[in-house]
Amino acid sequence: MKVHFWGVRGSIPTPLTPLQIQNRVAAVVQRITATDIRDADSRERFLASLPKWLFGTVGGNTSCVELETSQGETIILDAGSGLRELSLNLNERPSSPKGKTFHLFLSHFHWDHLQGLPFFTQAFNPANRIVFYSVNPDVRNILSRQMESPFFPVPFEGPGGFRAQMEFVQLKDSDKGISIGDTRIDWYPMDHPGGCVAYRFEDAGKVFIYATDTELHRENFVKNDANTKFFKQADAVVMDSQYTMDEALKKEGWGHSSFSMTVDFALNWECKKLVLFHHEPTYSDKKLFSVLQSASWYSGYNAKGTLQIEIAREGMELVL
Ligand SMILES: [Zn+2]
Ligand SMILES: [Zn+2]
Repeated sequence: MKVHFWGVRGSIPTPLTPLQIQNRVAAVVQRITATDIRDADSRERFLASLPKWLFGTVGGNTSCVELETSQGETIILDAGSGLRELSLNLNERPSSPKGKTFHLFLSHFHWDHLQGLPFFTQAFNPANRIVFYSVNPDVRNILSRQMESPFFPVPFEGPGGFRAQMEFVQLKDSDKGISIGDTRIDWYPMDHPGGCVAYRFEDAGKVFIYATDTELHRENFVKNDANTKFFKQADAVVMDSQYTMDEALKKEGWGHSSFSMTVDFALNWECKKLVLFHHEPTYSDKKLFSVLQSASWYSGYNAKGTLQIEIAREGMELVL
């Protein structure tokens, strides 16, 4: 499986402001010495030496993750504003006149997980097929309503709307799961206002879990059959880590987790890799990288480096 991150931010798209860009350029310029710009190699070395929060950004688009299975199927997790970036990228890839199938799994229907859908240009191509998956029986209506006038000028279906072949799959029998080719998919309810599901993908002996928008509780750590079957020993888990512990205490019931809880969770379930996801929109890149540093320290203190931790960044790719 290949996992590509197109949108990693929570709640609302968060572009860098002009002042933030200016401050970054100024901070970089202040670090340059004469030897840093002597030749091309020294310039490269200088750029590589800059902290990641200064030379780059985690990105401001909301949730969208692409999963390519070992058999080449394209699965998309959530349709946040990152879906527009994926759509632009798909336009650059080789395509067939016969079209392509996209399997779009929706965790829930909050705006930050839907707002990219009207900009998924592949949905306007009648050769393509889009299969929408949700536990909600009303998925077709919900998607249609968010594109109704006056909220958007183009409808979901009908004249001017999406022309791809669309199918809607309600995920019902969680005991059995479903399959796309040889990839097995399971889902699990998480605690979030209005509900949200986590997805588990098992493909060629590797397990990937996408668990956005969740407020972890004691029950998520209990080693019963259902939890164990879903969470134990995942190769990678992408998890809502929106808050610091301090902020999580103030925002109890908002439906998101602190990074320290997600570290505890990943250690509890012996996961190999934890990807901190759904970043708080008010956190700067500098703060987010300090969150990563704290999470790594905390994990190392508790479990001596058995868990790898990454912070989700737009453009990041995992190969499992
Ligand atoms: Zn969200
Ligand atoms: Zn949500």
